[in-house]
Amino acid sequence: MVNLIPQEKISEIQQASDIIQIISEYITLRQRGKNFVALCPFHSEKTPSFTVNPEKKLFKCFGCGEGGTVFQFLMKQEGMGFVEAVKLVAAKSHIDLSRLDNQKGSLSLAEKTRLINISDSAARYYHKILLHNEQGRFAREYLRKRQINDQSIKNFCLGYSPDGWDTLIRACKERNIPENLLEKAGLAIPKKEGNGYYDRFRNRLMFPIFNARKQAIGFGGRALDDSLPKYLNSPETVLFNKSNVLYGIDRAKNSILKQRKVILMEGYTDVIMAHQHGIDWAVAVMGTAVSKQDQFLQHLRQYCNHVILFFDADAAGLKSSDRNLDIFIEKGFDLEIAQLPADFDPCDFIVTEGADKFLACVNNAKDFFSFKAEMAAIKWDMSTIQGKANAINDVLSTVMKMPDVIERNLQIKRIAEEMAIDEHALRVHLKKFNNQTSLVQNRQDAKLRFDASFTAERELLYLMLSCNELIPKVLEEIGLEEFSNSSLFKIAQKVVELYHKKNVVREEDVLHLMDDVQLNKTLMDIVTTREFQNITNQGERLEACIHFFRRRNCKKERHQTKEKTLKTVKIGSTEEDIVVLLDEFHKKSKHIHILKNKS
Ligand SMILES: [Zn+2]
Repeated sequence: MVNLIPQEKISEIQQASDIIQIISEYITLRQRGKNFVALCPFHSEKTPSFTVNPEKKLFKCFGCGEGGTVFQFLMKQEGMGFVEAVKLVAAKSHIDLSRLDNQKGSLSLAEKTRLINISDSAARYYHKILLHNEQGRFAREYLRKRQINDQSIKNFCLGYSPDGWDTLIRACKERNIPENLLEKAGLAIPKKEGNGYYDRFRNRLMFPIFNARKQAIGFGGRALDDSLPKYLNSPETVLFNKSNVLYGIDRAKNSILKQRKVILMEGYTDVIMAHQHGIDWAVAVMGTAVSKQDQFLQHLRQYCNHVILFFDADAAGLKSSDRNLDIFIEKGFDLEIAQLPADFDPCDFIVTEGADKFLACVNNAKDFFSFKAEMAAIKWDMSTIQGKANAINDVLSTVMKMPDVIERNLQIKRIAEEMAIDEHALRVHLKKFNNQTSLVQNRQDAKLRFDASFTAERELLYLMLSCNELIPKVLEEIGLEEFSNSSLFKIAQKVVELYHKKNVVREEDVLHLMDDVQLNKTLMDIVTTREFQNITNQGERLEACIHFFRRRNCKKERHQTKEKTLKTVKIGSTEEDIVVLLDEFHKKSKHIHILKNKS
């Protein structure tokens, strides 16, 4: 997301905010020493590991690892974007941003709020007609037939749009809402000929779509006669973007957060029926295809990392080879596939078979890779070598998209077992299949994560952050290019960037600069590492780091010289060349020895 609010303004808002007050609106904080603690709202726990530091204005959960500034807290809790969170905190801290909005020429907060109010009142208008108006009778009957009860009608604010060309427009006129704003909210369409507008939704059962903050941002309308399309959605508006909306998220978010998992469905009534039966962690995607542009995944990532997807039995085979689903894997979700018997959609199934049987289906959901392997085995002739190879390719193409190397390797092992393939053979196949360089790169990254280099690089970053005066020395003696871990490198770059701009770098400023959840997590892990926090002799620690990096480089160079020597010997260079290289090699070795003794 493009950050339209200047950095200085963000810092000002953060400084002015009362993080304790804001977080207290959601959970009960208790003071413990300098900090406040609570049961974490982002994972289930019995003893509090969620900590807020009012001085630094940061929070951190030592249970699940979530952490950040008040903005990150709101983003996660409310499912809002960064800019939205900043605006909310500004409002709570009485900082006026209206001038900024206008300057940037974007839709002002005031105008957006106005459109939300219009959407909200349209939702209430349709709802009232459904409940109390004679015109809504047919829609009420339809809902009764589908066994959607009164409580659900109320909870999801279902409504009815009457069969007329300007019912909503006239109702709005009485309240001085101009037609052009109705158009902006996606509720009215300009007439092709002549002036004026007409209602977009006519004679439809209305499903208002709420965002995580319970604001109506769009509508889905189901035809009650044989009009087409059967389902009509709001067009793209400043409020409504199909690809980042999840139907039911307003009612499901708390439960999803607690359970750290979500049931993903495709229909409005599926979600309503699930909730009606107490399965309140179900939401629906808008539209049928999950595609790369779908920002709702980003949104969902803030709540959980485990997705259970429902497939129609008929379409399962087809969908198993749908590459679009790989996006869940790429984004690091655990994906499971639940299947219902043929001819059932989740809504029908819950109505006829009950919630328990439905939950049994959820619990029996198959891991996506097992599901893919199963489908591949049906699709290809597994008795032939070529068939088997094709089946393996089907599954591996997805496995290779897993961002975590360790998990990926475990998965390959499992697939080998499930597909009854020798693991070694599978890995040989994998080598042919996959671009080798990326594999090697990933393997190196994985190894680094746990070795001494990683530890040293983390400590170095901590020192730069906790003692800004050391930054010039770090740049001079070590240099940023020494960060071999790409995440740590990116963070270090931001730190230096801020330092050059302002001479002072605070952790929270770095967090604001980064738009990446994973980087934020890495940074929070570093600044909250106990052993780092206990460091009192920053200068000495930096010397130790410098020493470490020198030794590491020397080793690297020695290795390179050795390789070069061997190559030279092989291709039969002159004796002189070899002597020079060997000399170089010994010098490097000696240097390492000296460095070793110093430490
Ligand atoms: Zn937690």
